[in-house]
Amino acid sequence: MKIAFIGLGAMGYPMARHLAKEHEVLVWNRTREKAERHAREHGTKLATDLAECAGAELVITMLPTSREVDLIVDELLPHLREGILWIDATSGDPNVSRETAKRLASKGVAFVDAPVTGAVVGAENATLTIMIGGTAKDFARANEILRLNGKTIIHVGDIGAGHAIKVLTNSIMGATVWITSECLLLAKQLGIDIKTALEVTNAGSGRSNASENLLPMRLRDHKWPLVFKLAHHDKDIRIATSLAHQQHASTPLLALTSQLFSAALHELGDQADYIEVAKIIAKMNGTNWD
Ligand code: NDP
Repeated sequence: MKIAFIGLGAMGYPMARHLAKEHEVLVWNRTREKAERHAREHGTKLATDLAECAGAELVITMLPTSREVDLIVDELLPHLREGILWIDATSGDPNVSRETAKRLASKGVAFVDAPVTGAVVGAENATLTIMIGGTAKDFARANEILRLNGKTIIHVGDIGAGHAIKVLTNSIMGATVWITSECLLLAKQLGIDIKTALEVTNAGSGRSNASENLLPMRLRDHKWPLVFKLAHHDKDIRIATSLAHQQHASTPLLALTSQLFSAALHELGDQADYIEVAKIIAKMNGTNWD
């Protein structure tokens, strides 16, 4: 199948590579050099311009937010072929996605939201978990393609449902990272070695992905790689908060998590990794993790 892949960032770059094993993949990226490198390294085809992507049988977007997706839809909409499928793998906003899907439907183009989880390592190893919103028929079409990227692919519900569960699951992670860091810092301040505090946490009821995988490298080994931009994580939690607001839901911890992550983003800047919020927690206590 001829697939147009738009957005070769940390996630999109390896995802497009896996698709090229079975499909003819046309790549477009805002910074053209990345698309040139992709074509050179992975046998994909460099799109001459964005408009060329409209000729594909399937379009995949992997962009920061729904806003960038909509800008691309604006440009391609007049040229898209009837009957094709648009897969948006961005962690987007379900409300925006439903509107985008309507605009695409007016041209006979089907849409699914298909955000992913599993980080860059999951994209590299094609072991992502992919959560899809759309009709059963479009889910089946998307599944046939995305099986090259993911180990677990779940049909969550109608259009927007994939984006909704994605921001909720990331909010769970954000709150867990924050409370785990707070308590580990307190343990350290009480004179407990951080290695011991982690060991006990991971052998007990405080255990989580944060305590087992995300925090030890940073807090114990003092390595702070950029894995997932704090700006993206903040965006996800803000979308979750807006969904709660829309539902008149009482979600005080979600609201607080959103406030804390936004404050951390202001302090740390656009290029910080999401786990660097732990540095802010230390700063709030007049200390550091060294
Ligand atoms: P990156 O920041 O690494 O890449 C973003 C991509 O979007 C780049 O290709 C960038 O182009 C492109 N882009 C940015 N702005 C525009 C624009 N205005 N117009 C066109 N293209 C644009 O992001 P990730 O790959 O990390 O994340 C992509 C999505 O996946 C996000 O929604 C994120 O929340 C989600 N996600 C990320 C995970 C991760 O671990 N990184 C895990 C799971 C989901 P350019 O190269 O020119 O900058």
